[in-house]
Amino acid sequence: MSYRLTWDSLAPAPYESAWSVFLKVLSANYMSMPELEELIQREPAQRRVPRNHLDSGWIDFDRYASLLGVASERLKEGFLDQLEITPINPTRQIRPGIRQCPRCCKLGYHCVLFDLSIIKECPWHRCKLTESCTHCSFLRTLNPFTQVIAWWSGERICPICGTSLDRFINAPRLNAIDETLKYTIIGYCKEVSVRPVPSSALVGVSSK
Ligand SMILES: [Zn+2]
Ligand SMILES: [Zn+2]
Repeated sequence: MSYRLTWDSLAPAPYESAWSVFLKVLSANYMSMPELEELIQREPAQRRVPRNHLDSGWIDFDRYASLLGVASERLKEGFLDQLEITPINPTRQIRPGIRQCPRCCKLGYHCVLFDLSIIKECPWHRCKLTESCTHCSFLRTLNPFTQVIAWWSGERICPICGTSLDRFINAPRLNAIDETLKYTIIGYCKEVSVRPVPSSALVGVSSK
């Protein structure tokens, strides 16, 4: 019998970012990022070198996909390096901040293309993306157990940017994108992912 994680085969949505999928996996299975890493990594991380979770080089996709019971291609869509949109140098620690479309965020959807600085607004909602938040991108600390609960709304929020993460953490549905929006997203993302984008177009790329 093969071991499976709790997951909904309707998820992820098309081009849903790795960040978004990770948060949902952690939440649905009540696990931390280091625990998930143990399950899906190709090999153990080198000590003292922080892993960049949003670059897919460390992931065994066959394993990750079988644990969730979905095709690996659907998980790969959430990583810019898999889409070959930009080369990511794996020796550097790249920590893109997370920007949200407020309307996608309410649907518990974060698109992989929001990590590209050339994308200033949500292509389907036409909402300006929020300022980039590096705290939000840090999956080792941003997990279901460490969220601040806002006293005014009871929602789980990022303590730095204040974004509500309730639709990613303890999401009522793991994929709340309807059919119309689904095909809009696929059409747009397919077109962008065949156009080359300079690596300088990544948001908040930093190395140390
Ligand atoms: Zn949107
Ligand atoms: Zn934040």
